[in-house]
Amino acid sequence: MSERATAGTLASQPTARPDGPTDDAPAGYPTVGILALQGDFEAHAKILVQLGAEPREVRVPADLDGLDALIIPGGESTVMTLGIEREQLAEPLRELAARGTPILGTCAGMIMLDRRHLGLLDGVAERNAFGRQTRSFEADLELDGVSGPPVHAVFIRAPWIAEHGPKLKVLAEVDGHPVAVRQEKLIAISFHPELSGETRLHELLLALISD
Ligand code: GLN
Repeated sequence: MSERATAGTLASQPTARPDGPTDDAPAGYPTVGILALQGDFEAHAKILVQLGAEPREVRVPADLDGLDALIIPGGESTVMTLGIEREQLAEPLRELAARGTPILGTCAGMIMLDRRHLGLLDGVAERNAFGRQTRSFEADLELDGVSGPPVHAVFIRAPWIAEHGPKLKVLAEVDGHPVAVRQEKLIAISFHPELSGETRLHELLLALISD
């Protein structure tokens, strides 16, 4: 179980019902899946625990059952595409989105959500859009919908949204290119918030659960 079970007042509460599923989060804690076929899923899990959510690694369709939200992390979109095909996850992921489940895609995750991949976002992400090797960089971004100081964004061979339809709302741009977008309960960002200790995108995702 999570660190939470050993800390504070919850330690005295029962963690599982004898007759129920044992991997369910305690009532009140949202369960957030992290696609864990490839990429940096562990850093996302740490942030979710910090925010009081229960992370669950997703590798096969059954792992999507009962999720309150999902993160598709960064990694390599070509490898992730193959993993999704191998595990036959595309249709179950589309069904999850169709049920109104909030999804956050970061970097390669943004690519997976676009028209050419899962087809959930009304836009096309261009891979390695800032240049393949040289354009790993950090930037402070004002992000629509995120209050407080600018978001410190780490970009690693990042995509941007090259074209999009009217349903997609641009939350932030770099050099005139969208790097953070939202379409209803889908959020896609080009950068890695989990690498800079930035928790507000994850908070945004959790807020969409009850929205
Ligand atoms: N360049 C990678 C791709 O195209 C994405 C990089 C990342 O997720 N940090 O899949």
